[in-house]
Amino acid sequence: LLGIDFAAICGAQGVEAKYLMRGDNWWRYALSEEGAEIMHEAMRERGVEPVFGSGVDHFEVDDDGHVEAAVDPNGERYECDFAGVAIGLDFNTELLQDTPLELDDGIVVDEFMRTNVDNVFAAGDITTFNDLILGERAKNGSWGSAKEQGTIAARSMVDYGAEEFEWVSSYSITHFDFPFLSFGHPTLGDDSVEATTGENEWRRVALKDGKVVGGVLIGDLSPQSAFKQLMREGRDVSGQTDLLMEPGFSVDDLAAATEQ
Ligand SMILES: Cc1cc2nc3c(=O)[nH]c(=O)nc-3n(C[C@H](O)[C@H](O)[C@H](O)COP(=O)(O)OP(=O)(O)OC[C@H]3O[C@@H](n4cnc5c(N)ncnc54)[C@H](O)[C@@H]3O)c2cc1C
Repeated sequence: LLGIDFAAICGAQGVEAKYLMRGDNWWRYALSEEGAEIMHEAMRERGVEPVFGSGVDHFEVDDDGHVEAAVDPNGERYECDFAGVAIGLDFNTELLQDTPLELDDGIVVDEFMRTNVDNVFAAGDITTFNDLILGERAKNGSWGSAKEQGTIAARSMVDYGAEEFEWVSSYSITHFDFPFLSFGHPTLGDDSVEATTGENEWRRVALKDGKVVGGVLIGDLSPQSAFKQLMREGRDVSGQTDLLMEPGFSVDDLAAATEQ
């Protein structure tokens, strides 16, 4: 989500900017066009124009190496005084290449943050961990998750198996007139439900095997505790997903029969 941080900073500084992005809308793996349009409009209001179906093919630089323009894959040229790049995480695992540590898009750890080598632990963005809530290997790039993994790694060093990493992460954006929060793994799952619940209010919940695995809330963050609780409890909400979209949703609204 660094791209939108950067866009908002440009907007706040009165910099007229263009946000070149792939696809038809911002964060297309987590938001539909309907939800994303709220974010697009907020950017436009701050003088940042989202450009869709774009991206950067290459930058043009002057003789001193200063960026002068970004050229997108369509050949469109965007002159600029500076550019910011937000293209995801890049893991500096080169120093581990000749070690027995298992690497797979980061350092592989179990739910106790232990690597495949006894007495070697890892924590933070660099890990590919056993996500107990998701039921598969996952990655995370947020403060709360990194901090908690550090705590679990430290505990595991002195008492392996005492406490496992079971965490619902969240990431909020506070640059606009409305709050934005993503939680869990909003880009994963095999199904989703979404709804517009008011002006500048939209939500989407990602589901896997009938269970909540993540989501996005725009405008109204009030159901976040309920959604996170459902994730932690692994509640099966099959057949009741419409309830998740109700404005005042609470866990008690779900039929007791879904309790695991
Ligand atoms: C611009 C920006 C904004 C962000 N905003 C948010 C936000 O709003 N909310 C949120 O939850 N998260 C945010 N994040 C993500 C968050 O910062 C990371 O998830 C978090 O810092 C990860 O912590 P970490 O300890 O795993 O890694 P890092 O904080 O990256 O720490 C890794 C450390 O290891 C050091 N290092 C690397 N290689 C070596 C080496 N070979 N030897 C010794 N040291 C080495 C690095 O210098 C660094 O100090 C943001 C990130 C960025 C870049």
